[in-house]
Amino acid sequence: MTKKIAILGTGMAGLGAAHRLRSESADVVMFDKHTSYGGVTTSLQLPGGFTFDHGPHVSFTKDERIQQLLADNVEGQYETIQYYVNNYWEGRWMTHPVQNNMHGLPVDLITTIVCEFAALAQQERPSPVNYEEWLRGSYGDTFTQTFPMVYTQKYHTTPAANMTTDWIGPRMYRPSLKEVVHGALTKATANIHYVTHFRYPSRGGFMSYLHKFTEGVQFQFGHQLVKLRPKERRLVFANGVETSYDGVVSSIPLPDLIPLIEGAPREVQDAAHKLACTTVVLVNIGVARADISPAHISYFYDPQIVFSRLSFPYKMSPNNMPAGTSSLQAELYFSTKYRPLTTSPEQFIEPVIRDLVRCGVLDANDKILVKQAMKLDYANIIFDLDRSPALAIVHGYLTEIGVGYCGRYGDWGYMWTDESFKSGERAAETVLKAL
Ligand SMILES: Cc1cc2nc3c(=O)[nH]c(=O)nc-3n(C[C@H](O)[C@H](O)[C@H](O)COP(=O)(O)OP(=O)(O)OC[C@H]3O[C@@H](n4cnc5c(N)ncnc54)[C@H](O)[C@@H]3O)c2cc1C
Repeated sequence: MTKKIAILGTGMAGLGAAHRLRSESADVVMFDKHTSYGGVTTSLQLPGGFTFDHGPHVSFTKDERIQQLLADNVEGQYETIQYYVNNYWEGRWMTHPVQNNMHGLPVDLITTIVCEFAALAQQERPSPVNYEEWLRGSYGDTFTQTFPMVYTQKYHTTPAANMTTDWIGPRMYRPSLKEVVHGALTKATANIHYVTHFRYPSRGGFMSYLHKFTEGVQFQFGHQLVKLRPKERRLVFANGVETSYDGVVSSIPLPDLIPLIEGAPREVQDAAHKLACTTVVLVNIGVARADISPAHISYFYDPQIVFSRLSFPYKMSPNNMPAGTSSLQAELYFSTKYRPLTTSPEQFIEPVIRDLVRCGVLDANDKILVKQAMKLDYANIIFDLDRSPALAIVHGYLTEIGVGYCGRYGDWGYMWTDESFKSGERAAETVLKAL
């Protein structure tokens, strides 16, 4: 008999699962609460010809299979762009990362940082037990307190002392003393960012990469899961539809999924409740002036500037905006656990414009052609000290009841689009094996 496999969620992870199941003789249906596919990788067309993504999305996968899949999906119509990232702090602009590019900072500050950095080599330090200790041991106290600790509080919404170090990977560069001194003396430094180039679809925003994945897929949109009955293998949706399954793969965020599972033990519910994630408010702006930024992404350290990051969609593809204009997207971070969002996203539009003028990205007399705000409830996983033990309980339970999980919010990791896609493929494989 043909087996019925349900995929919950139609973002990169759900589409990865559908991709893996394409060649299987299974009856595969994808369900999503929204009215179209894409999840976080959806692109938005605003009036006047401006394209924005749900958060800055570019593809920098090193996996050649995924590179080829995405290139084929847009029939080779993509941009290849050299990445430039910069930082803003107290009126100064620096190439990213700051530790390699301190040229232009106050001389006393540089002197202290370089001396502390040099002293680190002479010190025996115990292994760091949290991110703050890792930072202090990598860069010294003054640099840590001036830059990454402040940024952590803004971006992750919790202090570095409340975070683990297992997410860092290549994200935080540890320079040699020679690189630190060189970058303090000159602006001419090597680009050591872990992403040097990226690809982006020429037309339609990042979402164009997804369209071909959906060919031949059975979708059920407007289906918000409200109950999962693991014993009966049944799914219940908010619109009243009920269906059975032989196998199920879910990319629904774990804190939302667990309370929907009938019979989920209290211990598992408590663990899911401890999983923390940021919510991002995105303020999208189109401006009647060409080329407003040298960078694709800019990081902002000052606590009094409302946004943590800016990205510039007009630099990702010339088709993301009308000729002679520019576009930018500001990111402001909140979290239910640490910094709840208490107002509507629209309340941030004017403060963002004020701070864009304050740091010189916009001129006071620039003509704003479009301004819009939105929020993503689930943005970045917070690697706080609760995450790892809580996640082990939640994942253990899902395995026990035969629910496959995948994606950024199913695996609950710091995953890029390619990793979410492959996670979906893996979850489908596991479900197939169990059948
Ligand atoms: C701000 C930001 C910037 C990023 N930048 C990049 C980048 O530059 N490059 C990169 O590669 N990656 C980037 N990422 C990561 C990337 O977005 C993710 O890895 C990937 O999109 C996650 O896909 P997913 O399918 O796991 O989750 P999602 O896309 O969130 O999919 C989950 C789906 O589940 C559905 N759903 C939820 N609840 C229910 C329910 N109860 N019933 C039915 N359906 C439900 C949702 O509607 C959604 O469609 C970024 C992420 C963010 C937040």
